[in-house]
Amino acid sequence: MDDLGALSAACGVDLVKLKQKYSAMAADRPQVVQDTVFAPATKSSMLTSQDIANRLDNYKVCKACSGQGIVKTLYNHRVMESNCEECNGEGVITENEINSDNNSNNNFDELDTDIIYDVIIVGAGLSGLACADYITQNTDRTCLILESRDRPGGRIFTEKVYSSIDGTFIGNVDIGGQWIGAKHNQMLQYVKRFQLSLDEQLYPSVPPSSDDIQQLSPLDQYLSLVGYRLKELDEAGKQQIIDFFTKVDQISASIDVKNIKDVVNSAYYDSISINDFIREHVHDREARIQLNIFFETIIACNTHNCSCLFMLFYVQSSGGVSSLGDGDEGAQKYKVRDGIQNVYNSLVKDLSLGGRCIISYNTCCDSIIVENKLVTVHNYDGTRYKGRTIVLAMGLDTVLQRISFNIPLPREKLLVSKGMVGGMAIKVIIIYDYPFWLSNTTHSPLTVVDAAEVVDDGTSAPVDQSIDVENVSVEVTTGTSKIIESTHDATPPVQAVTIGEIGPIKNLFDGGKLGEYYYLVGLITGGTCQQFIKDYQTMEARQAEILNQINIMYNHNSDPVGYVEKNWCEESYSSGCFASSFTPNSFHRAAPFLSSNVHDRIFFAGSESSKDFYGYMEGAALAGICAAKESVKHL
Ligand SMILES: Cc1cc2nc3c(=O)[nH]c(=O)nc-3n(C[C@H](O)[C@H](O)[C@H](O)COP(=O)(O)OP(=O)(O)OC[C@H]3O[C@@H](n4cnc5c(N)ncnc54)[C@H](O)[C@@H]3O)c2cc1C
Repeated sequence: MDDLGALSAACGVDLVKLKQKYSAMAADRPQVVQDTVFAPATKSSMLTSQDIANRLDNYKVCKACSGQGIVKTLYNHRVMESNCEECNGEGVITENEINSDNNSNNNFDELDTDIIYDVIIVGAGLSGLACADYITQNTDRTCLILESRDRPGGRIFTEKVYSSIDGTFIGNVDIGGQWIGAKHNQMLQYVKRFQLSLDEQLYPSVPPSSDDIQQLSPLDQYLSLVGYRLKELDEAGKQQIIDFFTKVDQISASIDVKNIKDVVNSAYYDSISINDFIREHVHDREARIQLNIFFETIIACNTHNCSCLFMLFYVQSSGGVSSLGDGDEGAQKYKVRDGIQNVYNSLVKDLSLGGRCIISYNTCCDSIIVENKLVTVHNYDGTRYKGRTIVLAMGLDTVLQRISFNIPLPREKLLVSKGMVGGMAIKVIIIYDYPFWLSNTTHSPLTVVDAAEVVDDGTSAPVDQSIDVENVSVEVTTGTSKIIESTHDATPPVQAVTIGEIGPIKNLFDGGKLGEYYYLVGLITGGTCQQFIKDYQTMEARQAEILNQINIMYNHNSDPVGYVEKNWCEESYSSGCFASSFTPNSFHRAAPFLSSNVHDRIFFAGSESSKDFYGYMEGAALAGICAAKESVKHL
């Protein structure tokens, strides 16, 4: 009898049949989602006997296929599915087969319901990991992290892409949070500490001819799309965009979330949407379209449904308008080589050292009971753990959707969650055998000339430099001296149409190389994302629409060799992606309480509770560290 058969016999359920049924369903699913959402078990499943639970403990969901038994491979423009080699198509692997950094809890047989942990952290996203990291590195306190998914990272996740031809691994792609800005000092600290390498995000742009250089939109410097520029504006339109950004920078500089009521006109700014504010100040229609695209891309929200005051806070929190966009000063300056997984896996690895932190995956917190100076966390699987303090490391809207409390939460906290609205984002990775988007573009230090093939002339050693960020020196690769040669005619349409008017993608990046291939990274965000999902309900339909847009943008026709899509809107454990924002008329009351604690026992982390770099990985890490300090102080 095989393992699954033995397990079936033990628990009296035909798991083989069940697996066949759901494998078939999974195969029919339009999307192969590595980041499987685990539906919380019902309360009745708490009655599962300890015997069966112990046996089940010996089995872990296969990380390579998220328990589906199948993996995604690429063939021409199709995503093909094949048996997962890690688990031999089983979907589960036994304890002794596990060889993963992510399973620190496997090293801790003492995960114990009788222990009173100093700090229980709910959520192993970046914020929860940063919180636990601070505690274990700086104090002698113990902590337990409860994570509902089967993996760490939350809204950051690196997915492996395999060749459809021979099943070999071709590279890692980040399908959630990815870029680190030049001002994201905490993230850069992690990069330095874990000795990771950064690649600089390149922004190859259309070379301006001598007479049209003046025609570029000022937004081009913020939305530096690869080899494609926004529709030309007339002088008045350009000036209005410049004036608008100056105004945004001026007003946002005065914002202090703790004293938001003191900000001049804060109630008014909160009563109008971003779209209203743009209409108020920008009369040129084309400039308005471009500004709406800009904010929809940055905050991943519908600009009609997002408070202008919140937008002003977001700008201030990130360090000004220029820190939000693309380019040198922007938030998309660097990416971690080989994926952001290197940050979260390194954090997890360090947490497993020293024996003071346990991570329990597939453990979804259901309710929190505060009594006798202790906090008891009840989970959907029937387990319960006791701690002295608790840190909720996720968006407050996610907390209140999922977790109940035996004590009334202060009105302020309810106000915060009431105004929150989830951002919406789909990230797509489109893989080609040739980087046609680099043709006819300037792309220093990548030289582009017209000829037939991609040639690696052997001189492609990275050009390294060091950057200093508050005494953090990090190795950065700025590019290679490789020469791309092509005969492909990728002449962009003469009259460029603003991206977003010709397809769902609003922001597009050169992904660089993936194995022997090249890829583009596209983001579909906010109201566009909402409508796109409604209009195109299968991945095939969405893919066709996206490829159509790329073809129009670059006057290009060949099929991609692969397509990876991550629709974050269907992630029930991440209510806002990139993050949650605030509807009009909610933020000026909620702002002072983003991170406030409750009864000196319950602390809030998560990117949405940070007043600095709100919504970014940097904000998540800072909020985690801040909650760690606070919770330990109250022990
Ligand atoms: C497509 C996309 C692109 C992005 N790009 C960037 C970028 O380039 N740069 C950048 O800086 N930021 C980016 N972001 C934002 C960034 O990823 C997030 O701000 C950050 O990862 C949030 O981390 P967090 O720990 O606060 O929350 P999360 O990552 O959401 O972590 C919360 C954790 O709590 C768990 N959880 C939820 N409910 C429960 C429960 N009841 N019990 C137990 N566990 C629970 C979740 O599973 C999750 O693991 C992007 C986000 C997305 C989605």
